[in-house]
Amino acid sequence: MNWTDPEEEKYRYKSSENKYLILKFSKNMTYKVNKEKCIGCGLCVATCPEGMELGEDGKAKVIDRDKVERCGGEALCPYQAIEEVK
Ligand code: SF4
Repeated sequence: MNWTDPEEEKYRYKSSENKYLILKFSKNMTYKVNKEKCIGCGLCVATCPEGMELGEDGKAKVIDRDKVERCGGEALCPYQAIEEVK
């Protein structure tokens, strides 16, 4: 582990020890909305308004991956439209 990586430092001081470890190993992951699966129900936005929003196309989009992760990540969408990607 490279504890001097400034990107990792950000996570170290932002979170508790356990949360830091979770973020550390997933920091290269992000989320995207599969537009074909998204029906625009808005459930993810209602559950995680700081991480998700509905776009002009009526489909959800990720606006903050860290907040989406804290809200539950892929589990936010009952239609499996939120996908974790590298
Ligand atoms: S991503 Fe899922 S929960 Fe969010 S609006 Fe689309 S279908 Fe609904």
